[in-house]
Amino acid sequence: MKPSLAESIKMNVWVGHDATLAALAETRFGDHIGAENLIYVTISTGVGGGIIANSEMVTGASGGAGEVGHIAIRTGSYKCNVGCDGCFEGNASGPAIARIARDRWTGRGPLADLAEGNPEKVTSRMVFDAADEGDLVAQEIVDLTIENVSIGLGSLMNVFNPEAIVIGGGVVQGLQRHWQQLQQTVIERSLPGYSGKIPLTATRLGDDVSLLGAAQLAFRESCRL
Ligand SMILES: [Zn+2]
Repeated sequence: MKPSLAESIKMNVWVGHDATLAALAETRFGDHIGAENLIYVTISTGVGGGIIANSEMVTGASGGAGEVGHIAIRTGSYKCNVGCDGCFEGNASGPAIARIARDRWTGRGPLADLAEGNPEKVTSRMVFDAADEGDLVAQEIVDLTIENVSIGLGSLMNVFNPEAIVIGGGVVQGLQRHWQQLQQTVIERSLPGYSGKIPLTATRLGDDVSLLGAAQLAFRESCRL
């Protein structure tokens, strides 16, 4: 596709995975300008990721690198849509959090009120909101989510030794209310050498983060020509 597009529009074309471009954007426009090693993880309807290592985008042999959502974090539990057992996405994406809530449905309390008594209406946002209102089951699910996210992020920390891990996506809005707990749990799930040095932040680049990365990719690569 890349050569034919370049030919038809008579311009140079570069292609990147959306989450990898988001990671690139964070090194140029986000809170970690100039970072040479950075991981971006989006936790939303799915869990995706992008990796910058030694200032380069990690693409893999066929462009498939960075699928951090399918790291196994809790085997024997939930599966994602692809079908892998106990992966990050199957246990910590927005739909995964809602599914866990449906499986633990009690039919009473703040979560049941927010979902108007219908477990099929439960969203991950409702789970976080209900926990804030004192719903004990919702709080258990929030704690489990923090644990699951931390296992995934701690694994990335150990493998890539990034200067920063930036997280984005809808579930992050809920996680931000528990930031200290999240950071502490990521520390517990990372090698002892990282204790107190987990550079975890939430993106501030909004919905255009991947577009900003695409612009940066085109700018950077054109300068290399
Ligand atoms: Zn999976």
